[in-house]
Order: sequence, then structure tokens, then C-alpha cells
Amino acid sequence: MVRTPVYMDYHSTTPCDPRVVDAMLPFFSHHYGNASSKGHFFGWQAAEAVRIAREEVAALIHSEPGEIVFTSGATESINLSLKGIYEMFSSRGKHLITVATEHRAVLDTVAHLEKMGAEVSILPVKSDGLIDTAELESAIRPDTQLISVMYANNETGVIQPVGEIGRIAKDHGVLFFCDATQALGKVPVDVMEDGIDLMAGSAHKFYGPKGAGFLYVRRKNPRVRLIAQQDGGGQEKELRSGTLNVPGIVGLGRAAALAGTEMMKTMEKIRALRDRLETAILDSGEARLNGHADLRLPTVSNLSFGSAGRGLLEKLQKDVAVSSGSACNSASLEPSHVLRAMGLGDDQAYHSIRFSLGKFNTEDDIDFVLERVKENLRSENLKT
Ligand SMILES: *Cc1c(COP(=O)(O)O)cnc(C)c1O
Repeated sequence: MVRTPVYMDYHSTTPCDPRVVDAMLPFFSHHYGNASSKGHFFGWQAAEAVRIAREEVAALIHSEPGEIVFTSGATESINLSLKGIYEMFSSRGKHLITVATEHRAVLDTVAHLEKMGAEVSILPVKSDGLIDTAELESAIRPDTQLISVMYANNETGVIQPVGEIGRIAKDHGVLFFCDATQALGKVPVDVMEDGIDLMAGSAHKFYGPKGAGFLYVRRKNPRVRLIAQQDGGGQEKELRSGTLNVPGIVGLGRAAALAGTEMMKTMEKIRALRDRLETAILDSGEARLNGHADLRLPTVSNLSFGSAGRGLLEKLQKDVAVSSGSACNSASLEPSHVLRAMGLGDDQAYHSIRFSLGKFNTEDDIDFVLERVKENLRSENLKT
């Protein structure tokens, strides 16, 4: 028996792992100190928990603990890094490079900077969702300060050649910011190997709590400097003022630790479920896959359904939580900017469904969803 509705929208958010909740609970009630209270036990206790969480996050991405800045999530980390770098370096150069398929948090921040005087190159992607790294390299100018390319796309799961981008950035003395929100806990991320200078992540995408995230800021080769975007008590090495969200940070740390130790096993299981779902739907001849088939996360299947797609989505959503494009886009009736950038027409983009799976999905979920897809497609096809 499956519990309905079935949740297949893990790329929008994930439930907290029960072990994460257990780790957080004492910090709401008993261990309620302010991590900045240096003079007494309550403060030390909170500071110690934050110190451990910082080590856990650092271990997940192979950084030093001192390179982690705790924030309220990826959107804040993205704003802090893009605006903070721009403010730091705009007197030297105002050019930055990003990609058409980035998350709204990046594209809208970049649009904001453009109004402030930034010059922005937005790279296209190929039909498989990947950027052309030669095109990236030739977009670099003497006044380029920053390249912003995401690790893995939230809608298609497509994984960009991050290591190569890191090398290109380094060769040209340009900083590389990477939105790794969707990759963390799903594929190994290594800021040293990947040559990443700044990186955003968010706990609620890997079984941690909402409202807790981090920004990685490289401190060696090169030491990255940026201007804080929130002023106040000077927490987080002056980069992010405000009382630390200790329960959230503890949850983020625990989620990072669990992701580090369990990722390989969990992803193997999810990949098998995803592949079974995807193969069965593709074999029906009713859909095609959006995004590179191999260079992508094991957790997602983004499928275009032809003209039956829109009706299918509406019917399916009665008992399966899926989304069209990204969650932020599905509220409006705009077709996904990611799929459009990959060359899909409005109609094809409009008729696409994102199935994103997670560690609490089961074989029974797959059977149920396949049944619902088949049945709803049949009734949609009868209409046309
Ligand atoms: C979810 C997501 C974000 C936004 O994260 P929040 O923590 O919700 O602000 C940014 N980028 C990507 C790729 C995401 O998937």
C-alpha cells in the first residue's frame, strides 16, 4: 500500500531526516544560548554546537571550517556572494558571466546588478543543457570579475563541467561562484578539486531544515574578499550579521554529516527507482527526456509529454506531488526558462513534468505513479 499523495518533488524541498530533527530539538528548548554570548555557559554550549556543525559542513565539501558562512539558505548566499563580490571589485571591472539556465536567485540578482551598472554576459546552453566551455572561455574579458555557473540544475539535474570551469576561471584570474544547492548530498562536491571560490548550499535540499544554508568563501589561493550585505553585530567574520540560527545550523550540520556518509548508498537506490520510472514512461512512446541522459543527478527525470502533458500534470497532481519546470515557475503560467534555453518551444516546455525522487520513495511509489501516468495519459489521449 502506498500513502497518497506520493511525494516526488524532492528538488523543491525534502522532509527533515528524523535524525536531523532529533539533533535540533534540544536547541529550541534546553540549549537556547546565543552563540555570540562569550561570557557564560549557555553561549559556550551554543557556540560549541555551531563549531561542530561548521566542521560537518566543511567536511562535506572538503573546505576548511573557517571558510563556511552560515546564512538563511541558498538565496541569501547567492545574493551575498554576487552582490558582495560586485561591490568589492566594481571599481576594477564590472563584467560578470553566468548562464541562461541558472536558478532565479542567480538570474534576478544578476539583473539587479545590471541595473547598478554591471555588464553581464549570459551564456546559452546546448540542447542537452550543458554549457560550451570554449564559449565560456571566450566570453572572459580583461574586466571580468566573476563566473557564476551552477553545479547541477534543479529542473533537469544536468551537471555542468565544474572542474573545467574552475580551471578556466583560475587560468584567467577570475573568481568562480557555484550554486551547488541541488548537487550537495547527491554527488561528491569538492571545492579544492573543482576549483570553486564561492559556493552556495541549503539544508532543506538534503534532508535538513528550511531556513538554514551556507556560503563557502575560499580563504587561500586566492583569499576571496567580499562586502557584507547585512550589517549589524558582526557575526560570521563580519560577513553575515545577525544572531545565529543555532537549531537550524545544528540541523544543517547533521544533514551534511549524514549526506557525507550515506550518499553513495542512498543515491544508488534512488537512481534505480528513477531509472525504472523513466524507462517505463519513455518506453510508452508518450514522452521524451529533457537534459543530458548521463551527465545529470540520479534523482530527477524531466519529461516532455506532447499535447497530453498539461492535462496530465493537472490530473497527476491530485495524487502525486510533481512539478512543471521549477516550483517557483509553476505558480505563474510562464513556461520554464531552463527548458526554453535548451531550445524547447513554449508548448513543449509547458507540457513538461519534473519527477524528483528522494530517499523516502519506495518501489510501491513507482508502481503507483506509473499506473497514474498511464491511466491519465489514456484519458487525455481519448480527448484529442
Ligand atoms: C532551491 C534552490 C535554490 C534556493 O534555495 P533556498 O535555500 O530555498 O533559498 C537556489 N538554487 C538552486 C539550484 C536550488 O535548487
